[in-house]
Amino acid sequence: MKQRLLTDRLVIASHNPGKVSEIRDLLGQFELSTQSAADLNLPEPEETGTTFSENAKLKAVAAAEGSGIAALADDSGLVVPALGGAPGVYSARWAGPEKDFDAAMARIEKKLGPKASREAHFVCVLALALPSGEIRTYEGMVQGTLVWPPKGTLGFGYDPMFRPKRFSETFGEMHPPKKHQISHRAEAFRLFTADQFSDA
Ligand code: IMP
Repeated sequence: MKQRLLTDRLVIASHNPGKVSEIRDLLGQFELSTQSAADLNLPEPEETGTTFSENAKLKAVAAAEGSGIAALADDSGLVVPALGGAPGVYSARWAGPEKDFDAAMARIEKKLGPKASREAHFVCVLALALPSGEIRTYEGMVQGTLVWPPKGTLGFGYDPMFRPKRFSETFGEMHPPKKHQISHRAEAFRLFTADQFSDA
């Protein structure tokens, strides 16, 4: 199988063990040896960007520069157009240090009020940075509707409030393998693997 840009080693630019293991699973079928930014004791950069792409790039570049090998980072969140794009890149921060997503979802509902459009989408941007300075990004998105009250106990974050288009259940009610076929993260990974590992 032909590989582009990537050689045989990759740093997963995250200090979040859940995210690292999910990315490892997604990359499991490829011949790559992976280490996380935490394994390598790399510092965690502050997410100062105002877009998903900026934040994904700054995490990937910091890890590539710190390690001297290629690094992959992701940044994701929920975008509600009726709230001017909020919570957007601040999706994790809206839940506060206690990671209280019930409170974050209630905040969205309160700000929306009864008349606003309930359209929303999740976005995931993956950034691949090389020690040479080359960077590529891959963006995935899934459109849906915000429901109230939240439904389901599966998934994480804003999943119980988000019902993807053409489905009758929320991400909180959907079994993970089904969510992983249609999610923003799945789409970004499909674009990344097609670019980096396809024979075309
Ligand atoms: P990140 O780790 O900076 O990318 O933060 C992403 C945040 O966006 C998470 O903490 C969640 O709040 C939210 N988020 C991203 N993807 C999902 C998803 O698939 N379901 C639910 N919430 C998500």
